[in-house]
Amino acid sequence: MKIFDEYQEKLAARKAMGLYRQRRVLESPQGARVTVEGRELLNFCSNDYLGLANHPALIEAAQAGAARWGVGSGAAHLVCGHFAVHEAFEQRFAAWVGLPAALSFSTGYMANLAVITALAGRGDTVFADKLNHASLNDAVQLSRAHFRRYAHNDLAALERLLAASTSGRKLIVSDSVFSMDGDFAPLAGLLELAERYDALLYLDDAHGFGVLGHGRGALAEFGLVSRRIVYMATLGKAAGVAGAAVAADPVVIDWLINQARPYIYTTAAPPMLAQALLASLDLIESEAWRRERLAAHIALFRQMLAPFADRLIDSATPIQPVLMRDNASALALSAALKAAGFWVAAIRPPTVPTPRLRVTLSAAHTSEDVAALAACLVKLLKDDLLKEGA
Ligand SMILES: *Cc1c(COP(=O)(O)O)cnc(C)c1O
Repeated sequence: MKIFDEYQEKLAARKAMGLYRQRRVLESPQGARVTVEGRELLNFCSNDYLGLANHPALIEAAQAGAARWGVGSGAAHLVCGHFAVHEAFEQRFAAWVGLPAALSFSTGYMANLAVITALAGRGDTVFADKLNHASLNDAVQLSRAHFRRYAHNDLAALERLLAASTSGRKLIVSDSVFSMDGDFAPLAGLLELAERYDALLYLDDAHGFGVLGHGRGALAEFGLVSRRIVYMATLGKAAGVAGAAVAADPVVIDWLINQARPYIYTTAAPPMLAQALLASLDLIESEAWRRERLAAHIALFRQMLAPFADRLIDSATPIQPVLMRDNASALALSAALKAAGFWVAAIRPPTVPTPRLRVTLSAAHTSEDVAALAACLVKLLKDDLLKEGA
């Protein structure tokens, strides 16, 4: 049938351009070593930065949570699906990140859709960094607000857009740690502009929560305090579980409960996950060694990659991209790493403007793991350079 032929042709075209995507099947839990299609690989592509996804304390909390609350929540939060353990997690989360109130979501993608569509609509304007996460961009489209994108981390460009805007409400939106580059947004500068132009500042801290600010995230790391900040952390990355939480002024949280359609019209996440998240917060708070170990891994990796410093991005986070000249070499290097026992994702357009290997480091790795990857990468990059010269 014609409609199937069309999709099939488009898929074939993607294959030809090196843009075809495929899932790999894991046969083990998440961790530094994973079994993938029958082979054990050292895993450098998860966002499990603290090594909590398969932690015994979280497993135990999830089991106890299932025994206490059952598996399904049975309804949306506003109907009869909001459990005491959801409530306990929200309060604990708000206090941990230093804001007065919080609201939990099933995923970060949904939290972004919910917050942006509730805070901005027709006649309003959203100002967004060009490298923001796809879910933030999708959310702006759904909101029907005007969409003004500024060059990556360019405060002067943002200020020009704000100054020129005659719109109703203004919302500035940024990743705090950019998911594919690992660099920080200029958070103090963004907040200053939000104050000067009477805007709200929505920060997506998917990659900062648990890692930065002694685990409290980007606001603590950069000492930001303001009623204008709406803060979002995802809980399937460093926190090792699933979901997301938004923290803000109580009026904003109340407005989200009343207005955010992706919050209102969906079944609440299983309460057992909130119980696992409470256990995760305990470990994020008490086990500073995980962040110290991660910092040592980041330093070691960058030091060993110094001969190819021009391929690295100025990143102090566990996200350490290695830039590639094209899709084909990104795929070839990723395949060569896999043959050597290392799993590193090749990230290509349209996810990112420039193809790259996205190396992510975790406290679950040993320093030997990190050194082995870095040594293999240096060797492969040298070979790649020789080929380029030939
Ligand atoms: C992963 C991610 C999300 C989506 O969160 P999920 O919980 O995976 O849906 C949102 N924003 C950023 C920056 C992310 O990296």
